[in-house]
Parts: sequence; structure tokens; C-alpha cells
Amino acid sequence: MRPYIDVHCHVGMTVSRAPVIGQSVGKCLARMASADVIGAILCPTAGGPQARGVLDSRAQNEVIANACRKYPERFPIGLGIAEVRHEQPGVDELDRAMQEEGLVGFVCHPALSGHSLGAELHAFLEVVAMHNGLCLLHQAGSTQNIATYADRFPSITFIIGHVSMSKAGQLDAIAHCAKQENIWYDVAQKPVGDESWDLAHLVNNLGNEQIMFGSDLPYYDFRLVQSQIEESQLDDETKERIAYKNAVRLVQQFRPDWVPILTPITPPQNYSEVEMWDANGARLK
Ligand SMILES: [Zn+2]
Repeated sequence: MRPYIDVHCHVGMTVSRAPVIGQSVGKCLARMASADVIGAILCPTAGGPQARGVLDSRAQNEVIANACRKYPERFPIGLGIAEVRHEQPGVDELDRAMQEEGLVGFVCHPALSGHSLGAELHAFLEVVAMHNGLCLLHQAGSTQNIATYADRFPSITFIIGHVSMSKAGQLDAIAHCAKQENIWYDVAQKPVGDESWDLAHLVNNLGNEQIMFGSDLPYYDFRLVQSQIEESQLDDETKERIAYKNAVRLVQQFRPDWVPILTPITPPQNYSEVEMWDANGARLK
């Protein structure tokens, strides 16, 4: 199969759902290696441990930064986590993680972190805007909120995570975000759909330059989306762009010197198929 780069890859544990679900950097590398994913933009899991408040966010950010330092050819950039209830100390931690650890922005998940993609996130976005950074935003209802952010913070590049988990979600994103040059998209968890909202429909409406493959690990068996891309009616150049070429362009906004290694990963340890794909909760099925 062609190489893939994953722009939506969580490392850490989600403890706010039962059963808990997560993955280590090592298991992430093993899953990537088994499915021709040659690089990823890492971010923490939402719903992670928060017993110690912002110290837990700091620990999650350090896991991502350490992985990027250890495997810069595979993890060229990483994101921190934003928890709006940490207020200014959370903003300060994001600034520290970007200045001292080299993270390029943040991920947030409104449902798992209890907010609504409104003005409560502005202080965090201001930090990212100062660094011309990157935000991976999961939807909270309409994508209109993300389009509003993209207008307000033109120096930030946004990725809408799993832009098409339903027909309504896909049509909503097309209606609100198609004209925003600083919004990119990943197709994690996309059902095949019919011609009114399949992958070709998405490309026809959002163009083929800013749609990218995303795994949403550890919540989903991303090989389903790879199959969908490979079997779609899209031309081969468009498939290459979605699989990895668009992600290379995105990463190079933040790491101009980075060149992907297109050969497979050798994981630091071996996991069985069962350990990689069957032991991680119902949503991975
Ligand atoms: Zn996600």
C-alpha cells in the first residue's frame, strides 16, 4: 500500500470513559508499522487523567514532546492539550509547552473536556496565534464555531478532526468552512456513505489539497479508512495527497526542513495482532 501520514493520533489514556482506552508511544508505532503509516502528528488523549489538574496536562504534554524528540523523523510535530477549566494556569502551561518543549499548538475535544468551542477557548488560541501554530479541533455540533475561530485567528492553522462522521456533519463543514484557507480536514472515522456524502463528494466540495488521512487512534481501526481511500473512485494523485502529500505540506509549515521517510517503521517492540487491534475497547471494532 502507499505510505500514509496520520494527522490525528492520540497518545495517553482516556480515563473518563469505561472501559478506559489509550495507547503508549510504542504501541502507536507498532500499529503504524503494521499498516504503512510512516509518520504522525501526535497529541494527547482527551478525557485524560486530571486528578492533579494542570500538572497532569503538563505530564501529557511532556509525553508528546518526548516522543517528538525521540522520533523526529516519524513524529515531526506534536500538539499539547487544552483544558479550559484550568483557566490561566492552563494557558500558561500551553505557552510553556510551545516555548520550551517545541509543541506547535493544541488539541481539544469539547465533549470530553466539557466546553463548547466558544470564547472560553480564546486565551488558549491567543497563545497559539502568537506562535503561528496549529490546532486540532473536534467538533461540537456545528463547525460554524471553527469557521468563526478561523476568521478571528488567521495566523492559526486549524484541522477539523473527523470532519465526516455523518452526512449532516459533512454538509455542515462544507457549508461553513469550505472558503476558509486556514482550515484543513482529516477523514478519521469516515463511513463510506453514498454519493451524496462519500469521499468523492467531500473532495469535490473541499478540494483535494487540505483533506488528510487521520487515524483517531486509539479509538478506531483506521485501516477501514485506508481501505476506503484505496477503493474510492478518486484519481491516484488525489489519493496520494489524502494519504500523505497534504500532510507533508502541512507539517512543513512548522518544520520546513522535515522530509518524510517513506519506508516502513520498525517498532521498538513487537505486539501481536490481537494486542494491537482487539484489546482496546468497543470503539476500536
Ligand atoms: Zn480525536
